[in-house]
Amino acid sequence: MRITTLGFPRIGKNRELKFLLESFWRKEISEKEFLKGVEKVKRENLLLQVDNGVDIVPVGDFSLYDSVLDTAWMFGCAGKRFRFSPSASWLERYFVYARGDSKNPALEMTKWFDTNYHYIVPEIDGVFSLEYNWLVDEFKWAKKVLTGKKVELKPVLIGPYTFIKLSKPKDSEELISLMEAIFPLYREVIKSLVDAGARYFQIDEPALVYGEDKKAVRLLGRFYSQINSEFGKKTKFILQTYFGSIEEHFKEAVTWGFEYIGLDMVRGREANLKAISCTKIKGGQGFVLGVVDGRNVWRTDYSQVISLLKKLSKKIDLSKAMLSPSSSLQFVPYAVEGEDLGEVQDYLAFAIEKLGELTDLRKALKENKKIISENKRLFVRWAKEPFRNDISVKQRMKSLSETDFSRPAPFKKRFALQKKALGLPMFPTTTIGSFPQTQDVRRMRRLYRTGQISRLAYDVFIAGKIREVIKIQEDLGLDVLVHGEFERTDMVEFFGIKMKGFAFTKNGWVQSYGSRCVRPPIIYGDVSRPEPMTINEVRYAQEQTDKPVKGMLTGPITILNWSFVRTDIARRDVAYQIALALRDEVADLEAAGISIIQVDEPALREGLPLKKRQQKAYLNWAVKAFRLATAVARSETQIHTHMCYSDFNDIIEAISAMDADVISIENARSRGELLDVFKEYKYDKCIGPGVYDIHSKRVPPVSEMVELLEECLRRGIKKELLWVNPDCGLKTRDWPETKKALLNMVKAAKVIRERYGKR
Ligand code: GLN
Ligand code: ZN
Repeated sequence: MRITTLGFPRIGKNRELKFLLESFWRKEISEKEFLKGVEKVKRENLLLQVDNGVDIVPVGDFSLYDSVLDTAWMFGCAGKRFRFSPSASWLERYFVYARGDSKNPALEMTKWFDTNYHYIVPEIDGVFSLEYNWLVDEFKWAKKVLTGKKVELKPVLIGPYTFIKLSKPKDSEELISLMEAIFPLYREVIKSLVDAGARYFQIDEPALVYGEDKKAVRLLGRFYSQINSEFGKKTKFILQTYFGSIEEHFKEAVTWGFEYIGLDMVRGREANLKAISCTKIKGGQGFVLGVVDGRNVWRTDYSQVISLLKKLSKKIDLSKAMLSPSSSLQFVPYAVEGEDLGEVQDYLAFAIEKLGELTDLRKALKENKKIISENKRLFVRWAKEPFRNDISVKQRMKSLSETDFSRPAPFKKRFALQKKALGLPMFPTTTIGSFPQTQDVRRMRRLYRTGQISRLAYDVFIAGKIREVIKIQEDLGLDVLVHGEFERTDMVEFFGIKMKGFAFTKNGWVQSYGSRCVRPPIIYGDVSRPEPMTINEVRYAQEQTDKPVKGMLTGPITILNWSFVRTDIARRDVAYQIALALRDEVADLEAAGISIIQVDEPALREGLPLKKRQQKAYLNWAVKAFRLATAVARSETQIHTHMCYSDFNDIIEAISAMDADVISIENARSRGELLDVFKEYKYDKCIGPGVYDIHSKRVPPVSEMVELLEECLRRGIKKELLWVNPDCGLKTRDWPETKKALLNMVKAAKVIRERYGKR
């Protein structure tokens, strides 16, 4: 069996691409130096794969910013509204699409399926042209780099269905007409690679995992059948899917003439297996079997893979199959080697180690008993490791009962009690939590981290910042204050570090978008909170003022979705464990005299399963996790939550079921989108649709914010329930613009109060 990968991390072993991009954007290096540096990263990525046993190496999966943008660029359809100065080079233009400039707002960016990677959404108008066939250049370049090596190259391209679908066509008709318009250009690109001597060709169609668009998929099948019959003699085409099963389309897909069909046998294992077993498959059909998890960081259980392959061998010709990761490896860091993760380290496999697992598996298949038994021992040990099993957490999980998930009284009652306890005006003003993380904050954090200042000095500094920010908020006239979150770098990492069951890498970077990388925590064991995590700062802030200060926590689902999660127990149970730890924190905050507690859940939506029929179950336990974290609060304590998006159409009932007393959401940036929901759905708890966009330096005038608030009232949000706040946290902003914007916001609330009643 041969080994292939579907894609490899792009960012460089030590984030070289990130640093190249940033110096290029700052104009510290020339275009030539930049491209030379990039070539080095690309070359290293190719060679790493070859040297670690990959037989068929992808080319074209690399990108300077994003592959969807590259595809749009190829087909001349990134966005027609863009205007460039005539002297701008192709590289400068490329980055303007991604990042915008003074004349051109950037293209929208959104999450790539259910990953934490963001892609650029092209603005397609139906007119395509072959603008730049970079794939053929990449192929020729890689061929040169690998001369003399005994490997095959495999150009990779996002397929037409997935590409158009990700460009957000407005309905299925538009999807179909755009696909029809772009097919001839796809054919042209494919032909150029066939002519250039490509013996393999991977076409990515992960959108098939949605299991939708019957008509469009039928059309796609016709296109692929033509491609395969026209070029299939010279080139072996792979229909590559990932992020789940494709059982809805499998019967059709095997008739499209592909030499290989690539399947995700981790997430899609059972359903794909079933689809294979009940489909008539013609002899000689090849498969690329994604048996090593490309989305997570754990070692692979070989015995499971071997039993899977045994089952498959009854139906398909394994000698023609290839082994691969279940998706591109861009979602995991480069290498475990060099990390310092103690007992957890043995159980981890990042990109390079996953390649080792694939070659191991191939050996194990030839009845290499030693490999199998060593791997088995590893998993037996992992299950029992005392450092990750916590009896008291397991006990607590077992004794959960339905009442733990519900507040002591329904919202209406709580609302009355909170009104009395808090004494807030109508249209109360607040912020989302963080305030500008200025130079001095980052500097002191660095000094503390590197041991150049003491814990005490750091705490004294943070206390000073808290006093300052409370005073500022009082002067501005805000009603509900925050402590500013100066002690936090990242809203997940901050909590992860304080909880048991989390590990943190030194160099485990994963690309989030462009040059931005994140280092997700690794949840390896039972989660608990050994001691309070946020009390000191919040209590200190509350001591400085008579106005209520909000306690600020990151919610269980956001912590879950932004981490690598253990797979030996259900995700739901990990979420509940985190929720229990947060529940203790909520109780402690309350005991410390905090009367309002916000539990942020910006990542709730992105955890939605790709297949619609699985979404309900997810939402059900996600909502329950939030409730478990918060339901411990007394009726008088006001629970807030916050989300950074406004795309609520299909999840509004779940949002309501979270039973938060107040929810703040993004609204100013996507004007109106959010409010449409309220025409149909009567949301009956407090809500603060953001009145200004915190992503921009611009300070909107009072009148604009008043107008937005009035629009909320017009669209059916009850005046007793309306809060006034920005779209999101202010940590990326500067102080001068922040003060001006908040002052305008407070003024806008006053205007609204005068017009619509004081209490
Ligand atoms: N409380 C957080 C902040 O203000 C919320 C951030 C977020 O929603 N992503 O920074
Ligand atoms: Zn936000």
